[in-house]
Amino acid sequence: MTFLIDQPKLDGEVNEKKISNSEEMDLVLDGGFVVPNANAFGHTFRDYNAESERQEGVENFYKTNHICQTYDFVKKMREEYGKLDKVEMGIWECCELLNNIVDESDPDLDEPQIEHLLQTAEAIRRDHPDEDWLHLTGLIHDLGKILLHPKFSKLPQWAVVGDTYPVGCAFDDSIVHHKYFKENPDFKNPKYNTKNGVYSEGCGLENVLMSWGHDDYMYMVAKENKTTLPSAGLFIIRFHSLYAMHRSGAYKHLMTKEDMENLEWLKIFNKYDLYSKSKVRVDVEKVKPYYLSLIEKYFPAKLRW
Ligand code: FE
Ligand code: FE
Repeated sequence: MTFLIDQPKLDGEVNEKKISNSEEMDLVLDGGFVVPNANAFGHTFRDYNAESERQEGVENFYKTNHICQTYDFVKKMREEYGKLDKVEMGIWECCELLNNIVDESDPDLDEPQIEHLLQTAEAIRRDHPDEDWLHLTGLIHDLGKILLHPKFSKLPQWAVVGDTYPVGCAFDDSIVHHKYFKENPDFKNPKYNTKNGVYSEGCGLENVLMSWGHDDYMYMVAKENKTTLPSAGLFIIRFHSLYAMHRSGAYKHLMTKEDMENLEWLKIFNKYDLYSKSKVRVDVEKVKPYYLSLIEKYFPAKLRW
């Protein structure tokens, strides 16, 4: 059995910690990134040292992330993964595959990851019954974490999960652990370190490169495979980890009117993204036909990944 409790003072998707019945502790960063290895410590959750070690793990994660996510790195990643030549599979197939990888890093094996995806979707469905596109967006928004699958890519955790932010312009002060950007080569590059950088005022977030991770990847997959999801759905998928925007109100100068409208949907979505808050069991087999019908409505049977 696993209890999920609120994670104090951690930004973005670093938002939950799990305490298993053996009192091991790990921090799960948006599903999959576990710091530090609980087995190596074995402290209880009230242990102050364990707490600071965990914080250190998160900080190190963001240190590497902030140093390595440059404009050039993002371009290379988009080029490589934009080929979509890795595998062909359907949306539900990917849910099941993601289920397997998250299970590997999760000590709590009695609760499959697919239930967490469905919990997000089902909570949205309960409160917004008419927005079927939003239910499906809830189900698929994290499927880009398939990048963590060892047979799929060899990307490190810092290039898949965590908060995201625009590259090619100044890093906003509100981004978590901002100080580490000083070691990012773009930080001193006058091409990239001004307010607008390579962009122009109001150019639209669609034209802005984002730090590479599961968000941008899933956005590319959905778009290139010609999803019929509305633009708000794609916006949610691509920017759900851009906490500097949806929590701190940054980057408005790059946004269009449509971006501002989509941001309102993202804010609604975000309440449900914290799936751990509602530990209601979902009967996968019971809800599966509904989600298969949505997948059929908005996606081709097979997608290129
Ligand atoms: Fe996510
Ligand atoms: Fe999520």
